[in-house]
Amino acid sequence: LDKDWIFMIRTKTPGGRLSAAQYLALDRLAETVGNGTLRITTRQGVQLHGIRKTDLRRAVSEIITSGILTWGACGDVVRNTLATPVPNADPIYLELQELASDLGQIFLSRSRAYSEVWIDGEPLPLGEGGPTEEEPIYGATYLPRKFKIGIALPPRNDIDVFSNDLGLVAHANVQGVEGYTLLVGGGHGMTHGLRQTQPHLAEPLFYVPKERVREAAVALVTVQRDYGNREDRKRARLKYLLLDRGIDWLRREVAARLSFAPEAPRPFSFTTVADPLGWHEQGDGKLFLGLFIENGRILDRPGFRLRQALRQIALDFGFPLRLTANGNLFLAQIPRERKAQLAELLSEYGISAAPPKSATRSLGHACVALPTCGLSLAESERVFPSLMEKIDRILEELGLQDEPILIRMSGCPNGCSRPYNADLSFVGRAPGKYAFFAGGSLAGDRLAGLEKRSVGFEEIPEIVRGTLTAFARERLPEEGFSQYWARTRPRGPLPSPDQFHEE
Ligand code: SF4
Repeated sequence: LDKDWIFMIRTKTPGGRLSAAQYLALDRLAETVGNGTLRITTRQGVQLHGIRKTDLRRAVSEIITSGILTWGACGDVVRNTLATPVPNADPIYLELQELASDLGQIFLSRSRAYSEVWIDGEPLPLGEGGPTEEEPIYGATYLPRKFKIGIALPPRNDIDVFSNDLGLVAHANVQGVEGYTLLVGGGHGMTHGLRQTQPHLAEPLFYVPKERVREAAVALVTVQRDYGNREDRKRARLKYLLLDRGIDWLRREVAARLSFAPEAPRPFSFTTVADPLGWHEQGDGKLFLGLFIENGRILDRPGFRLRQALRQIALDFGFPLRLTANGNLFLAQIPRERKAQLAELLSEYGISAAPPKSATRSLGHACVALPTCGLSLAESERVFPSLMEKIDRILEELGLQDEPILIRMSGCPNGCSRPYNADLSFVGRAPGKYAFFAGGSLAGDRLAGLEKRSVGFEEIPEIVRGTLTAFARERLPEEGFSQYWARTRPRGPLPSPDQFHEE
């Protein structure tokens, strides 16, 4: 008898776009072959957990038939491309979504293996431009490691652009997008105690006009393909190439592969990583609704039937959806006259259309971890809500309930919830034990540092209380937590391994 293997399936949905019919296909699979829940990922995809080996082929096949891919959501290739998911009708937002789709196509692996694995020799309905054996970008060896691309529109850093191997920061004027500043070498993963590993935020490389951005992305990916570390997987991401050889080397190497001369990076600034939750105008007379989804988990529990509500909305209204990199969900294209009907349906299922009262709560995020992630060293998603309840009470006691403080938790140092640029974060080391980091920023543009090597889960509320009490006492008027930390704990410009590892 073989073991009863279970698997996770992850979708590849550039920019987090889903139609109502596609959502319903995923919901059906969650019910019939999954564990009854859907998980919005921090890369704007959906994960189905608990799929038995015998159900894998059917599940992947149904996902593909719905027009979504799982192809390239994992593996040593360019992963799902992030783009700001805000369903604003302004053509700039649509252009960024189209760029995400284009990059998804450009970097799709051409191998036939995907269809061969899932079909017992029968081609799956992959349509025009389906797989061949030619790999114009990946060649025979693919990439040394996964490669992440994200597209952001200042001042909202809702896709955490600095966490990507390639971050594209759009520069727009009233006519539309002019071009992009390329940020390179971001990534969160590290290994506790292994000083040659560390998180890194992407650094400015150069500016390119919008017509050239696809060419520039291909040039960068091929540099990583040719020079990335293939001997040590723990140091195989682009960030290590950047750390080892320097930004000037990378600039020269990428520029040498371009048919044009790139310009110096342009200035930009971000204010927040938050999604606009609640009701908003789209700009074309219609509305969108940003729904807070705690830790991206779509599930039903007594008095809170989120999965049923979303299924009913997809069936009754057919509104398109957008998944956010914070694990939330936008329902788009809502005619004004249907707002009340939609709010009523949500409330029937116990769901509020309003964001959480606590700004900190609406920002917090925890990775999947136990019981379905095989890499987890400690709990994360399952314990985070109770932790945040305690933190909410502390915020209220200190009169800080309206302060947006970015708190994240991960079950292991891979950092899927992007803990290393949060204001405060907890990274699993062992059951019930976490490394405590502090000093990232609400805009996602600064790395945190290791404050305590190991703290018990039960100690976390008091640690947070101590930190927030000092903030409440010492802050300047109007000063947010991220600015307070930067003022009171100034750091040198370059992160060193000491920032993340104990001596
Ligand atoms: Fe799993 Fe670690 Fe990622 Fe959490 S951070 S989901 S524990 S790999």
